[in-house]
Amino acid sequence: MSKLGKKLFIIIMSTALCGLIIISIFVNFSINRQFTGYIYLENKEIVNELVSSLKENYRKYNDWRNIDNVIRNFKNTKNLKFFIADINGDIIAYSHTGIIRGQNINRGETESINLIINNKNIGKLHWFIPLRGNYTSEHAEHFVDRLNKVIFLTSAVIALITIVISFFLSRHLTEPLLKMNVFAGKVAEGDFKQELKIKGTDEIAELADSFSEMINKLAHLEKIRKESTSDLAHELRTPVTTIKSYIEGIEDGILAVDKKTIKDVKEETERLILLINRLQELTETEEKILHLKKEKQNLSQIIKNIVARYKIKTLKKSIRLEENYPGEDIYIAGDKDSLYTILNNLLSNALKYTKKNGLIKISLKTTGNNAVIKLIDTGIGIPESDLPFIFERFYRTDKSRSANSGGVGIGLTITKNLVEAHAGKIKVKSSNKGTEFIIYFPLY
Ligand code: ADP
Repeated sequence: MSKLGKKLFIIIMSTALCGLIIISIFVNFSINRQFTGYIYLENKEIVNELVSSLKENYRKYNDWRNIDNVIRNFKNTKNLKFFIADINGDIIAYSHTGIIRGQNINRGETESINLIINNKNIGKLHWFIPLRGNYTSEHAEHFVDRLNKVIFLTSAVIALITIVISFFLSRHLTEPLLKMNVFAGKVAEGDFKQELKIKGTDEIAELADSFSEMINKLAHLEKIRKESTSDLAHELRTPVTTIKSYIEGIEDGILAVDKKTIKDVKEETERLILLINRLQELTETEEKILHLKKEKQNLSQIIKNIVARYKIKTLKKSIRLEENYPGEDIYIAGDKDSLYTILNNLLSNALKYTKKNGLIKISLKTTGNNAVIKLIDTGIGIPESDLPFIFERFYRTDKSRSANSGGVGIGLTITKNLVEAHAGKIKVKSSNKGTEFIIYFPLY
C-alpha cells in the first residue's frame, strides 16, 4: 500500500475502533446500571413482602411472638439478610448470625424501614442484600457475564470488519491519486499521449478530469508550438529570401534602385509585417481559448450587427446581401468577441472572393439542439483537393491568389479553433459556383 494509503488506513481504522470502544464501554456501563437498578427494585418488593408478613404476625399475636417462624420461612426462599429491632432498639430476631448492625457487614448498604400498625410504631426492620460480585444473585451475575461476553465478541467481530473495510476503503480512495501521480510523472517526462481514466463523479474524479483537461491543453499547446515553429520558419523564409535576392541584385548591379524595385521590396516587407500580425492574432486566439469565458449571447443580434458592418462594403462591390433569421432570437453560450471574430473572418473571405454582382446569403436557424449559421457566397470557390486542408494554418488555395488578396492562410484556422472552443462544428462545401460555410453551436 502507498504511504498515503497507509495513513488513510490508520486514520479510518483508528477512528472506527475508537468509536467502537467508546460504544462498547458505554453499552456495558449502562447495561450494568440498568440491571442493578432493576435488581434493587425487585428486592424492594421482597422487603415489602417481609414487612407485610411481620405486621400480619404482630397483629395476630399483638406482640412479637412466633417471629422466628416467620423469619425462618422467609429466609429459606429469599436472598435477603435482615434483623428486626423492637421499639426500644433491642434486636429481637435476625435472619443470619453475624448480621446485626456493626458486625461483619462489609458489602452492600444497610437500609431500614419502620414497622407501623395503626399509627403505632412496633419496631424497625434493618436489611441489606448480600452481593455476589456486583450482583445479588448467581443468576444475575451469570446473566451480566454472558451479556458482557456478547458485547465483547460483537465488538471483536465489528473491529475485524472495520479493519478489512478500512483497508479496502483507503486503497479505493488513494488509487485514483496514485494513477494521477504516475500520469503526472509521465507528463513531466514529456509523454502527453497517455490517457487518464478515473471512474466516478466525486471530487477526486472531478480533479482527475480537470487534470486530464489540463494535460490535453498542454499537449495541444505543445503541438501548436512545434507546428508553429516549423510553419513559421517556412512562411518567413519566402519574403525574407525574396528581399535578400533583391538586395543581392542591387549589390551585384543587376537590379537598379528604381521605383519598381523599391515597391517590390516594400511589398515583401509589408507581407512580412502582415504575416507577423496575423501570427500574433493566432497566438492571441490560442491564449483566449485557454481562458474563454462563455456567457449567454444573443446570436441573432450578433449576426445582425456584424452583417450591418458589411452592408456598405457589399454595396460598393455591387454584391447582393441576403439575410434570413427566425422570428425569435437564438441564444448560445459564448464569448462575444470570439463570435464576432468568427463571423468577421467568414464574411471578409466571402466578400474578398466574390466577384462583382455576386450574392452573399447569411441565415440562422435552429435544428435540434443546435443553432445553425449558413454563409453562402457565389464566389470563385475552393478547389475540391484543397477543401480538407482549408482550416490548416498558412494554407491557401492558390498562394499567388491569396498573396494578392493579402491573405496568409490563418483566418480560417482562427475561425475553426474558436468554433470548437464553443463546442461547435464548422463545415465547408464548395464548387466553382461558390462556397458554403455551415456552423453549428449548441443552444443555450
Ligand atoms: P486568408 O487570410 O488567406 O484568406 P483563410 O484562412 O481565411 O486565409 O482562408 C484560407 C484560404 O481559403 C484562402 O487562401 C482562400 O483561398 C480560401 N477561401 C476561404 N474562404 C473562401 C471563400 N469564401 N471563397 C473562396 N475561397 C475561400
